[in-house]
Amino acid sequence: MALLQALRNTHTMTPADIYIDNEGVIRTAGKQRHNDVRARMKQGGRAIWNRIEQMLRLRRTQGTHTGIHWVHSHVDEETRRAWKETCQLECACGGQGRRECDPTHPHHLGNEQADKCAKRGMRGEPEGSHRPQLRATAGEEEFYLRHESGEVCQGDIVGFMKKHEASRRVAAMREEGTARTKTHPEGQPRKLRWAQAEAWGDKSLRASVRKPAAVTSRFKVRAWAGVLPTYSDISKKCMAPGPDREVYGEDIGRVCPSCEAAVPETQEHIFCSCDALSAVRRVAVRKAKELWTRSKSEVEWQQYEWVSSEGAKRYAQGGWKQE
Ligand SMILES: [Zn+2]
Ligand SMILES: [Zn+2]
Repeated sequence: MALLQALRNTHTMTPADIYIDNEGVIRTAGKQRHNDVRARMKQGGRAIWNRIEQMLRLRRTQGTHTGIHWVHSHVDEETRRAWKETCQLECACGGQGRRECDPTHPHHLGNEQADKCAKRGMRGEPEGSHRPQLRATAGEEEFYLRHESGEVCQGDIVGFMKKHEASRRVAAMREEGTARTKTHPEGQPRKLRWAQAEAWGDKSLRASVRKPAAVTSRFKVRAWAGVLPTYSDISKKCMAPGPDREVYGEDIGRVCPSCEAAVPETQEHIFCSCDALSAVRRVAVRKAKELWTRSKSEVEWQQYEWVSSEGAKRYAQGGWKQE
């Protein structure tokens, strides 16, 4: 936005050198995408970038000089002064000939000053935000996406659609689940449990559990939704006419075929208590515990784990609860 403001406030025939401490902004400003609608569809802050690009293009076609230079930020901290090997941009201060920033250089002093002004500006009232020119949609494409809540998609269109589609589905699960508790008060419906787990669970933890490719997504999603084809589940489906009954007939039992417990083979039974899998489970529990211990979170692990037989009891009794 600051780059756009600088361009808007400079006559297009006036040569300009602009100093910016954000590498990402400099890189994006260097891209010329007026003919690449696909690339623009993924750009965050699309409307603003469209305008910046058009301003820069206009200046180019008029032969007006526009220099965009990088200033390394916060070089008052000594550790930040030396230029990193990986750094591709050169700081506008010139690095004193030894790739090390000079904090007393006018560009650095100016950058600190601009930083302070920006912070002060952020606390103030947005000036002129009623002006159509400063609205997020000014500079948008001829067609743009708007969610029914009024939110305009300003970044990756695919990501925007995925995000809203996912939240629509979770909301539907919560609604259907809640409606079902009214007609079937005996147990908490799966859909509702899932929606609650989604709301109360930790998003980043969920993402890292989902990532490893060693286990197929198909398995993970089914396990997560509680619809793995267990004996208990299949036998229930076989009671009514349908594909399951065609395949398995009527005599498939609910009971776990792997152990002596003579209990229904449910997902909870497989993951938490089946004796036939106790060795696998012991190793998994030990490994998980080691990870938690390594991150110094043993206490949390004892509280929240549901993979040991103790934890399994809590899981079976209470399911998800909000802390
Ligand atoms: Zn510098
Ligand atoms: Zn079993």
